[in-house]
Amino acid sequence: MGFFLSFFAINAIYQASEGEGVHIGTPQVFVRFQGCAIGCFNCDSIDTWDFNTGERLSLEQVLTQVIQQGGDRFKRVSITGGDPLHPKLLPQVLELTKVLKRKGYWINIEAAGTRVVDELFDAVDYISFDYKTPSTKVRTNPALIAKLAVQFADKFQVKSVIENRLDYDDTVKAFGFVEEMLSKDAPSTKKFPWVLTPAFNLGESMPLNRVLDVISWNENDALGFRVITQQHKILHGSEKKKV
Ligand code: SF4
Repeated sequence: MGFFLSFFAINAIYQASEGEGVHIGTPQVFVRFQGCAIGCFNCDSIDTWDFNTGERLSLEQVLTQVIQQGGDRFKRVSITGGDPLHPKLLPQVLELTKVLKRKGYWINIEAAGTRVVDELFDAVDYISFDYKTPSTKVRTNPALIAKLAVQFADKFQVKSVIENRLDYDDTVKAFGFVEEMLSKDAPSTKKFPWVLTPAFNLGESMPLNRVLDVISWNENDALGFRVITQQHKILHGSEKKKV
């Protein structure tokens, strides 16, 4: 009989189609953990910050909800937050990952761009890693992205929220830094997807001009980024949860 953690700090478990990044449009179950200490300025999930709120569920309760939400139709889970890599949540996330993998689930982890956790990244199928731009007022060390490219080739994407030209220019700079590091230290490293996500802030309606600007900057420079908008916000508005 294995040892199981006594509870999981959960904000929500729900089924929806992926709204952003390279897997956009794919139905999956989201397991949203409760708790984040990163404090992005333009966070759209402030309700996930407080480690002391949300639900306290047993492993069995989490699994029951995942199975109910996905049914027999798909075994695909995205673990998100909050900050599922925070040391307070990490043991819970590792435990859940282990059990879901044993049951045959495909797992994506949403990583905030501040930590690489080898044990977890080895265990999941895909890593969605943020590069935090100046508008978030949080920094991502580009060396972490170079590390992912070497260690987790073919199973990660980088996502940058682009609010304005400053964010775009900063992302281009980080991209150049990563390319330079890789060309020096690991020249055979494969290309990886880096997605520009035009910001769609709480309370805004569809920011068409911002999206068109980001598309045009990207077309002009043609550095290999992809511009992918937040489809769930276009469809449901910027504030609706569980979509
Ligand atoms: S890491 Fe995610 S949940 Fe935490 S503050 Fe940033 S956007 Fe919000």
